[in-house]
Parts: sequence; structure tokens; C-alpha cells
Amino acid sequence: MEEITLRLENCEKWTKYKNLMNKTGDFICPECVRTHTVNVEQTLKMSINQEKIKRKKIEIAFESLSRENLHLKIDEHFENLKNKVDLHVEELIKKINDIRIDMVDKIYQKKNEFIEDINSVGFQHLNKENFSEEMENINDVLEKLVIEDNYLKNIDKKKCQIKKILDQLDKNKFERNKISNEIIQIVGILKLTEEKIQLNSTIGASEDFYEDFQPWL
Ligand SMILES: [Zn+2]
Repeated sequence: MEEITLRLENCEKWTKYKNLMNKTGDFICPECVRTHTVNVEQTLKMSINQEKIKRKKIEIAFESLSRENLHLKIDEHFENLKNKVDLHVEELIKKINDIRIDMVDKIYQKKNEFIEDINSVGFQHLNKENFSEEMENINDVLEKLVIEDNYLKNIDKKKCQIKKILDQLDKNKFERNKISNEIIQIVGILKLTEEKIQLNSTIGASEDFYEDFQPWL
């Protein structure tokens, strides 16, 4: 706007609009060597200037109303929405993964506890190989019987301990939560307009104007 040229009243020379901006009343002519005054209001009131100002206003308005501009705003807005969703969902995925990592750590920790427990009860010595080897070195039947009784007792004890361990093992579980609407609550709610924008066609617009704006009406 400030670059348009206006005709000065009183001396009829041309000057840039910016030379008149923020001024009122009479002021020293910005274009003449000979000093005389021009009146801002009178200058602005001149039809030739009025027309130039109005034309520029319309041009500026068209620039801000241009389809590209609106396209850009629409693009930006929805891109921004998408980014917000992505960002939030990424955070959620990270949080969920942190919970998973923590659970996996605890699972392996518990597993190691079980392995340490069965190692500490000395199960490893009570086996078929040890039994056969021990029996080979004994000839006396009665002595064999005593040892066998002892083995049977220990086997019962081992069975009992294995049962305890298995019972305890079953108590370690993962209970799935139902994946339902709650997940939508966690992710958030996307609110999009349901109704179509009802725009009236521009009144009094020329053909060109209508054609230019039609695509987004
Ligand atoms: Zn002048």
C-alpha cells in the first residue's frame, strides 16, 4: 500500500502514499523544492487517489484471499492435527514399551529365582546314573533294599518338591486387559466437523471471480 503513488493536491505532483501516512492537515510538500503546503485529507479525497487506494486495497485483499493461501492454511491445519496425533501416539507407544521392558525384566528375574531355587535343593544328585552306579558296587541284597528304600523316599520327596514348584510356577501369569474402547480414550478424541461447509456463491462477483473461487466452494 505504501508504495502506490498519489497525486498531491495544490501542486499536482506525484508522491508515494507512505509520504502521507500518519499525517494530518497541512504539511510541507514532499515533492517540491519550492516550499508550499499540501493538505493530506484533500489529497486523499481526490477521485484519482481514491481510485488508486481502493484498487490497491482490493489487490491486497485478493492476495490474502487467494486459493493458494487458503490451501496452505488448510494444509497446515490438518498437517498440524496429524502431527499432534502422531506425537501423542508415539509417546503412548514409548510408555507402553517402557512398561513392556519393565515386565520382561521382572519375568527374567523371576525365572532366575526359580532356577536358583531348584539348584539349591540338590535335585541334580538324585538321578538314574548315580543310582545305577551306586547299586553296581553293592552285592548284598539287603543292603540294596535299604538303599532302594532310601531312593524311593527321596524320589517321593523330589516329586513333592516338583509339584510345589509347578504350583508356584502357575501362579506367575499375565492377565490380558481387553483392548476395547478404552484404548480410544487413552489415545484421545479426534473431533472433525461433520457438516459440509455451506457457502453462498459470491454476490455481484464477475465471472472471473466466480471461476477462480469455485473449486473450494
Ligand atoms: Zn508540491
